[in-house]
Amino acid sequence: MEKLKSIFVNNEWTAGRHRLAGDVIDPATGKKLYEVGFAGPEDLAAALESASRGFEIWRKTSAYERSRILRKAADLTRARAEEIAQMITREQGKPIAEARMEAGGAGDHIDWYAEEGRRAYGRVIPSRAIGVRQTVLQEPIGPVAAFSPWNFPVSQLVRKIAGALAAGCSIIAKGPEETPSSCMELVRCFQDAGVPAGVVNLVFGVPHEISEYLIRSDVIRKVSFTGSVPVGRHLGALASQHLKRCTLELGGHAPFIVCDDADVGAAAQIASTLKFRNAGQVCAAPTRYLVQSAVYDKFLDSFSAAAGKVVVGSGLDSATQMGPLANARRVSAMQDFVADALRSGATLATKNTPVSEHGFFHAPTILADVPASAKLMRDEPFGPVAAVVRFEEIEDALAIANSLPFGLAAFAFTGSIKRATLLSDELAAGMVSINHFGLAAPETPFGGIKDSGYGSEGGSEGLSAYLSPKFISQVGI
Ligand code: NAD
Repeated sequence: MEKLKSIFVNNEWTAGRHRLAGDVIDPATGKKLYEVGFAGPEDLAAALESASRGFEIWRKTSAYERSRILRKAADLTRARAEEIAQMITREQGKPIAEARMEAGGAGDHIDWYAEEGRRAYGRVIPSRAIGVRQTVLQEPIGPVAAFSPWNFPVSQLVRKIAGALAAGCSIIAKGPEETPSSCMELVRCFQDAGVPAGVVNLVFGVPHEISEYLIRSDVIRKVSFTGSVPVGRHLGALASQHLKRCTLELGGHAPFIVCDDADVGAAAQIASTLKFRNAGQVCAAPTRYLVQSAVYDKFLDSFSAAAGKVVVGSGLDSATQMGPLANARRVSAMQDFVADALRSGATLATKNTPVSEHGFFHAPTILADVPASAKLMRDEPFGPVAAVVRFEEIEDALAIANSLPFGLAAFAFTGSIKRATLLSDELAAGMVSINHFGLAAPETPFGGIKDSGYGSEGGSEGLSAYLSPKFISQVGI
């Protein structure tokens, strides 16, 4: 069985020296494709040395030159987008059209950070005494340990690498073991663009072994993690124990509020597109649909009709609109959510469309009148299952929306500016999108509050995450 040479350290690709390797499975068939090499302690020690040397070179490379190299990497991702998209779909399962958007969008993230890195301005602070010059420089924080998940193997990783490199940091990224190939190809674009040896390093392996090894090391100055709340809590604690700055982009349970004055047809169509994109495995996907009484039946009918038309199948088939879930764990999680909601008194609003028994498929599922006691109203489903709930007054919808410890994304639909303003002010979330889907552009901050984590990726905040201010007070010579 082929084993990918997936470990990239000091400009060299190897299969890693761990006794274990990971199975890469095609989620549309459940069959093993090949193995991914795992990094052992020797590889991690070499990665730390490499990142340390890489940082010394890269921090002394001008922002102009860094930007030039990054833009070249962006162009390479565009030239290789089709190949990368095929890898994403083969290993992760999403429809090829979505994979093309993901692969094609990587260059946008890199370009934006490449430009923003040239604008990492410091400032001059007027001093209390004549002759004293007070300046603030924005310096790269140091080598970064980054952990990215499988749901968007390229978009999640590219933000971390591009942000770190634009700021002048080096990085050791642990990619997702389930979906390694597109991550490797992305890193190859940085390598081929001329990023010096040691600046970008990529590893795969046993997640907890890698995070504990890297975060404890004195070399690492910054930790960035995207994934589930429990793992984020653990890594956040580890980072704080070792006094490392940390960005955590964790789970969500986004409310989607439909008011009685909204364009209900348009809201239902967006509801379906957002729910079933990437089979619902999106941290910012809507999950709790809160609909005002007067339009409840109309919304539920349109949403269920749209869900019923979603074509489920292999992501490589161009007719497919929703692929399999990424792994078997997600399928049993969906079955649990649905069974629990039905037991709690919810009703099924979609027909039980048969899906292939091979691979990790689950039909688009909408549950209506889901009681607050159902697990689906508390735990993040991270899959193609939606809960629809009725509300009377806007304040009731806000109370339900804000009742969970999550606070990543929130959506609302209304025809009234007054209500739109109230909802955007009062929804407790890091990102609010009113009357459309408008999240995740490279130039806008992406991140949450409460248990959804802290810090932002994207926007100027995304660059600041990798910078550290240095204050200099100087008397003229
Ligand atoms: P999981 O909690 O086992 O893993 C989530 C991610 O964290 C994976 O990429 C995994 O490799 C990594 N990970 C796990 N333990 C780690 C450790 N000790 N150190 C470093 N990395 C570690 O969950 P899963 O079954 O893979 O995914 C399902 C859950 O993860 C979902 O419920 C969802 O909340 C969350 N998730 C969120 C995002 C996101 O975009 N925020 C992406 C993927 C998964």
